[in-house]
Amino acid sequence: METKSLRANVCQPHLKKTRCGWGVLLSLLVVCPLVASLASASHKTVTPTEVMFEPIGLSNEKVVYLSSPRHISSGSRGELGWEENINGRHWNYYAATGDYMDGSITSLMRRNLRSRGYKVIVSPNSRDGNIQESINRSNALQADVHITTHTNAIRGPGTGDYLLLIIDQQTASAEDKALRYQLAQSLGPKVPGNEVLTTDVSGYTNGGNLGELAVNAVYTVYVELIFHDNQSHVNWFGSGDDWGASVKHHAWRYGDAIDRALRFPKDKIYERYYQ
Ligand SMILES: [Zn+2]
Repeated sequence: METKSLRANVCQPHLKKTRCGWGVLLSLLVVCPLVASLASASHKTVTPTEVMFEPIGLSNEKVVYLSSPRHISSGSRGELGWEENINGRHWNYYAATGDYMDGSITSLMRRNLRSRGYKVIVSPNSRDGNIQESINRSNALQADVHITTHTNAIRGPGTGDYLLLIIDQQTASAEDKALRYQLAQSLGPKVPGNEVLTTDVSGYTNGGNLGELAVNAVYTVYVELIFHDNQSHVNWFGSGDDWGASVKHHAWRYGDAIDRALRFPKDKIYERYYQ
């Protein structure tokens, strides 16, 4: 179990360049409209503005705030060509409003949080260190659920190999534990990490590194999705021109975990609606 910060200070140059040149013009005619339609489609593009998504269909009257990292050093944290702040927001965006399940486009209600009835806020991922702004917004919008999505690093490439789901062990509620459990169940077997680690015996507290958990939301979990300095993890997240590929397969699982932790609030709304 972890007993200290896993944040790495290693710096590596970007290894990958965006490929958009005349030599592949014909393919771009097909690919670029699709890519352009995907917000945050570049792993080099920071999105400095908050995005709020209303529920699709009947609201379940719950609010989810999906927080992104706002590391000042994002892009030089050993991310093997990607960028941590953008990884987190990209995942959050698809969890909020993506149309994919298991790699295929779908219209199933389970495909994202909005269609499950949640109002969702996706935070900015600016390289400004201003995570307090995201915390304040989560509180101001009275979020019921607050998840922050990071990617992890450790002292040396390839040495981190787990999914880390953190709650504040000093203030952990039954709701925090329920959401963490459901995230572990839904996401754990699908991420490249071989273990799911949590905070109960880790020594993490709601101190410096975990200030992001100091929110009013009842359900609060801090996710370190992959190790961004582990090439196999980075390849799972996306490789070649298919960066962010994992979101098309698994970002819907945030909705699955949240729905299970909250016991499917939209179903309850439907029950009331049709009584
Ligand atoms: Zn981080």
